[in-house]
Amino acid sequence: MRLHVFEPITFAAMAEIGTDIQKAARLLKRGKLVAIPTETVYGLAANAFNEEAVLSIFEAKNRPHFDPLIVHSSSAEWVKQHVANIPPIAQTLMDEFWPGPLTLVLPKKPVVPDVVTSGLDSVAVRVPQHPMTQDLIRLLDFPLAAPSANPFGYVSPTTAQHVEDQLGDKVDYILDGGSTTVGLESTIIGFEEAKPVVYRLGGLSIDVIEDLIGPVEMGLNMSSDPKAPGMLKSHYAPGKPLYFGNPGEMITEFEGKRIGFLGFMTRLEFLPPNRQLLLSPRGDLHEAAVNLFAFMREFEKFPVDLILAEKLPEIGLGRAINDRLRRAAVNS
Ligand code: AMP
Ligand code: MG
Repeated sequence: MRLHVFEPITFAAMAEIGTDIQKAARLLKRGKLVAIPTETVYGLAANAFNEEAVLSIFEAKNRPHFDPLIVHSSSAEWVKQHVANIPPIAQTLMDEFWPGPLTLVLPKKPVVPDVVTSGLDSVAVRVPQHPMTQDLIRLLDFPLAAPSANPFGYVSPTTAQHVEDQLGDKVDYILDGGSTTVGLESTIIGFEEAKPVVYRLGGLSIDVIEDLIGPVEMGLNMSSDPKAPGMLKSHYAPGKPLYFGNPGEMITEFEGKRIGFLGFMTRLEFLPPNRQLLLSPRGDLHEAAVNLFAFMREFEKFPVDLILAEKLPEIGLGRAINDRLRRAAVNS
C-alpha cells in the first residue's frame, strides 16, 4: 500500500473584520495597520507621525516609495497644524467640500515625515466623511496616513471583504463601515502659483468645483507626472484583461473568446445576459461610480476571458469613471 504524505497546509492569518472603533484606535496607537472605511474607498491606515508604521503601509501594499500618501484628519482646523500655507481658494474649497471626497496638496510643515510625502515639500490632506472613521480619528492625537487598501496597481476596495480578500494577512484589523457611498478615490487638487490644478479626477466632480471657484486647469500629463503617481497608467487593473472603448467596434477583434461586458445603461443583444453587468440601468453616474470597482472584481468570478468596458458620458463623475477604466485597460 502506498503511503500518502500530506503536505502541511498553512493558512495565512486573516484579519478580524469588526466595528470596534476603540480596538482600531488601540492598534493604531501601537503603530499597527488598520483598514478604515471612508466615503471614497477603504483606506489602509497608520499613524502618519510614526515613520515605521508608515513604512509598513508601503510594504503591505507593495507600493513604490515615490508614491506619496494622503494624510487624513478629523477637521480643517487640525489640518492647519500640518500645512504651512493655505491659499484663499484652498480655504474656500475646504469650507465647502470638507468633510468629503476632495484632497488638497499644500506646502507641508516639518511635522509631517518625509516618508509620507515621498520627500516632496508638499502634503496631500483630506477630511473624510465616514462617521466611523471620523469617530476613530477623534480618539487619536495623530492624523492617519492612508492610501487605498489594495495591492499597488490593483482595483481599489469598496467593502471590508475586498480588503480581507487581498490584504487580510497584512493588516491587523478591518473596521467595517459597509459599502462605500462614493466609490471612487478622492479628487486631488494642487496649487501652482496659487492657481488650482487638478492632479487626479475623482469622487468630487470638476463641474461642482468649477461652479464654486471658476475654471480649473488639468494637471499637465497627469498620467506620468511624478507629482501624482496615483495617475500612473496601468493602475486599477482587475484580474482579467479589460478593453475600454466602443464595444460594437471592439468586439470584432475577439472572435472565439468568452466576452464579458461592463456597460453603463443598456445590455448588448449579441452577448449572453449573464456575462454582462450594467453600472446604472437608470443612467445615474453616481450609482455607476458606487458600482464600478465592485463590478470590475465581479468579473473575476464570471466565465469570461476578457472584459469590454463601455465609455460613459464625459460629464460629471463620468469623467472620473472613464479615467479609471482607461487606466485599467490593456488597450490604452
Ligand atoms: P492613494 O492614497 O492610493 O489614493 O494615492 C494618493 C495619491 O495622492 C498619490 O498617488 C498621488 O497621486 C497623490 N499625492 C499625494 N501626495 C501628493 C503630493 N505631495 N503632491 C502631489 N500629489 C500627491
Ligand atoms: Mg490607490
